[in-house]
Amino acid sequence: MSALGAGPDREYDAVVVGAGFAGLYMLHRLRGMGLTARVYEVGDDVGGTWYWNRYPGARCDVDSLEYSYQFSEELQQEWEWTERYATQPEILRYVNHVADRFDLRRDIDFETRVELATFDEEAKRWRVTTSRGAASARFVIMATGCLSSANTPDFAGRESFAGETLHTGQWPHQGVDFTGKRVGIIGTGSSAIQSIPLIAAEAKHLFVFQRTANYSIPAHNQPLDAEVVAAIKADYAGFRAQNRLMQAGFGARAPRNMEQGALDVDAEQRQSMYEARWQHGGLAFLGAFNDLLSSREANETSASFVRAKIRELVDDPEVAELLSPKNVIGCKRMCVDSGYYRTFNRSNVSLVDVRASPIEEITASGLRTGAAEYALDCIVFATGFDAMTGALLKIDIRGRCGRRLREKWAEGPRTFLGLQTAGFPNLFTITGPGSPSVLTNMLPSIEQHVDFIAECIDHMRTRGATVVEPAEWAEDEWVSHVNETAGATLLPTCNSWYLGANIPGKARVFMPYLGFPAYVEKCEAVVENGYEGFEFG
Ligand code: FAD
Ligand code: NAP
Repeated sequence: MSALGAGPDREYDAVVVGAGFAGLYMLHRLRGMGLTARVYEVGDDVGGTWYWNRYPGARCDVDSLEYSYQFSEELQQEWEWTERYATQPEILRYVNHVADRFDLRRDIDFETRVELATFDEEAKRWRVTTSRGAASARFVIMATGCLSSANTPDFAGRESFAGETLHTGQWPHQGVDFTGKRVGIIGTGSSAIQSIPLIAAEAKHLFVFQRTANYSIPAHNQPLDAEVVAAIKADYAGFRAQNRLMQAGFGARAPRNMEQGALDVDAEQRQSMYEARWQHGGLAFLGAFNDLLSSREANETSASFVRAKIRELVDDPEVAELLSPKNVIGCKRMCVDSGYYRTFNRSNVSLVDVRASPIEEITASGLRTGAAEYALDCIVFATGFDAMTGALLKIDIRGRCGRRLREKWAEGPRTFLGLQTAGFPNLFTITGPGSPSVLTNMLPSIEQHVDFIAECIDHMRTRGATVVEPAEWAEDEWVSHVNETAGATLLPTCNSWYLGANIPGKARVFMPYLGFPAYVEKCEAVVENGYEGFEFG
């Protein structure tokens, strides 16, 4: 399966779309197998999420020592993270280091958007059309990202605004100076919660337009302790193995309690469990008890703990009440912050309830809600992403008989293991819908998918197969299983992006699969049983 030589299109064994963590590792693996591969990337450099999201305060909320590659022992030993949660510039430096260390750039075309991918049934190859020409490849691997298609709601008058418009997911590389400006930020998800304290410290006035309040746990970010780092590096592989056993693929060393339900202990014990996790900081908060995502009553005990914290942190009781989420905790992606709630004690910050009075229009001079008009110099859209399927479906993907993926997925994505979809042979998705992806530490999830895909391609070489795709029955069973697993929890009970609820008109289907260890076990069983559920031709 080597390159077939020159033709009207450039020919490769594989085309990889996207040069974030997923695309880079995929390229490295394919090269290691002696295959020819080309990566196409819209941006002008590597990094994906960490290339695009340069807003103030952007950082990971999974510990840096875990939010990193593990495929190279030398890399994980030699790279020195400086903080518990690395900043965006530090993560971007890391991605660049990886690209250089493994000499990846020479096989990447930057500033190149993949627009169309068509499966040629006769040649059993994909024709990939980009903004700069076309290529032909046996395999197409979508490393397009779960959170890479920025969502800017279509407010009336959006184009008329005379000031500066920004999106957290498309932040200018040169940075933004908010000094002396009246700034409006729309949204209170993770991106807003990270950036609001920093924008507030600079702006003349910051208006926060909140539709739904979110739960946020303090990060307690700090410089990494050299002794902790040394202890982990002494057995990094063992540390990674412990994390692989965790439901979300991380947090093995964080305080957790999977033995008890929240109502198995008395109120005082519960309070001290939550307090300990609040003091520890970060996403481990929901590991306080084993039933927080399955029992509403249990969930309410942790939700009310956070609401009480908000009342402690925010001086104005009315503002505290408005900042207090009413939905189930953990149902929307939890946020992790550094000084978010206290920012609302500043005299230059106003919280605006756009649930009660929705945004009606963006005007030349600002923004108008049902209740008032706000004069602004700058509007920040912290309005998230068309998650999981957005970037994929922006590409016109046509499989067997010219069938479009957009049509196949009109009622929601359908995949086997989030890796492939029937009728689209040799098309793989890294962390696609139906895989644990966004419910996990994404780095181990990405590596697990890349390894699976590489081994599947290798298996095809061994058995002389040219195409692979899932059987319909396997896909149907998997889609049902993903839904059942989510349905047994509280996760589908609010308007989250996991469900596609943030995008008007998008089908409401719970997209990620809950449970990293169970998923890995399933993938291993599939392989052991001769790739059961996949069909080779
Ligand atoms: P991405 O990094 O999204 O890369 C996809 C790339 O594909 C992009 O560069 C994009 O330009 C390119 N692309 C898309 N479509 C095309 C096309 N048609 N043609 C060419 N190129 C295309 N996850 C965690 O586990 N922990 C965290 O702490 C965490 N923090 C996050 C913080 C932010 C602000 C965001 C937005 C996400 C965060 N995530 C986090 C999720 C994060 O997206 C993943 O961890 C990871 O970076 C995804 O890597 P990826 O390579 O799969 O996708
Ligand atoms: P998000 O969580 O989807 O938040 C978008 C915000 O915009 C929500 O508050 C939403 O309100 C609001 N919004 C959207 N449309 C609106 C409209 N028409 N009117 C008013 N408000 C509107 O997006 P995000 O903050 O960019 O985060 C996305 C994901 O990226 C996170 O969940 C996380 O997985 C990842 N991320 C991680 C970190 C980190 O800490 N490492 C940081 C940033 C992002 P509703 O809730 O009412 O829809």
